[in-house]
Amino acid sequence: MAENLVYSSKINKIRSFALILIFVGFAIMYGGLLAKKIEWLMLILFLIGILFILLSCVVYFWIGMLSTKAVSIVCPNCEKPTKMLGRVDACMHCKQPLTLDKDLEGMEFDEKYNKRKYRKQAKSNNKR
Ligand SMILES: [Zn+2]
Repeated sequence: MAENLVYSSKINKIRSFALILIFVGFAIMYGGLLAKKIEWLMLILFLIGILFILLSCVVYFWIGMLSTKAVSIVCPNCEKPTKMLGRVDACMHCKQPLTLDKDLEGMEFDEKYNKRKYRKQAKSNNKR
């Protein structure tokens, strides 16, 4: 079970990455405010801060693009609807590892999570 907790959904990961970028951007701009006595330093810090915020906008946009490609399935573990990216991902709610590809069985995850039952469920949901 401990391994499951380490692996979180890809969309969630990217989303928290974008959030961190925004915080870093604002922190750097705040640093710019503190350094307003040194004009060039303030300007540089503001520019870097704006860059970080722009980057996070790009990442958010990217998440939007990925979400449209993501496959909606119902998690076999917690039975909540979740989205999968790629062939292997984790449930957004309970972090249950999920796969759509039987070739990956037992490769990235413990084999017990790739049982036929789970896979069939994922596939039939995928076809909707
Ligand atoms: Zn789940």
